[in-house]
Amino acid sequence: MPTKIEVLATLQLVDQSLRAKTRTVAEGEGRVAALEEAVSAQTAAASAVRVELAALGVRQRDLEGRLTAAEAKMKDRRMRMTRIRNDKELGLARREVDLLKEEIGTLETELMAVMEQVEGSTAKLAGLDAELARLAAERDREASELRETLARLSSEIERERATRSELVQTIDGDLRRKYEMIFSRRGGLAVVEVRGGICQGCRMRVPPQLFNQIQRNAEVILCPSCQRMLFWRAEGEEASG
Ligand SMILES: [Zn+2]
Repeated sequence: MPTKIEVLATLQLVDQSLRAKTRTVAEGEGRVAALEEAVSAQTAAASAVRVELAALGVRQRDLEGRLTAAEAKMKDRRMRMTRIRNDKELGLARREVDLLKEEIGTLETELMAVMEQVEGSTAKLAGLDAELARLAAERDREASELRETLARLSSEIERERATRSELVQTIDGDLRRKYEMIFSRRGGLAVVEVRGGICQGCRMRVPPQLFNQIQRNAEVILCPSCQRMLFWRAEGEEASG
């Protein structure tokens, strides 16, 4: 029949294992969720640039159309000029050609600016798409790793939970609650060994009188400095694990 502290030490082994496994799963889930979020943000950013590019494309085609029309009109006016003999009409025609030249210049400047914007946005989109592909691949890799982790750990977690409930039934409620409180507040270490008179939880020397009591393993004794439950293992047992 194991003593209370021995049962608690066994329970702690199960709890530490459970804690590590559930953490591994939670960390995997966290990584997948973070990547999922990054993929969404990147997709939204790429979509915004696509919308911007579509609008620029409309603008570019409009400017190109107007430029072609203005150039055709100017060509036509210049042809007509060669047939004009009247000075007044010639003056008006020259004026019109000058205005068309000005319009063409303005359209060309605008078109150049739009084409530069298209170039910039296209490069930006390529960068965003490359990063999106990288993130999506990383998310897929993490997701498949998580599935593997779950497949590997689920049954172990279930088995350990069953072991835990069996163990817990043999422990008095108050003692169990005390153990659980220390376990959660002291970084998953509630039951610690005393080796060479030193608490392995806080490295403080345990008073000799207390050490004698601990060696009997009869009752649950708390470390005076870190408040963990002290456990003593005979040398032979320690060696054999
Ligand atoms: Zn201690």
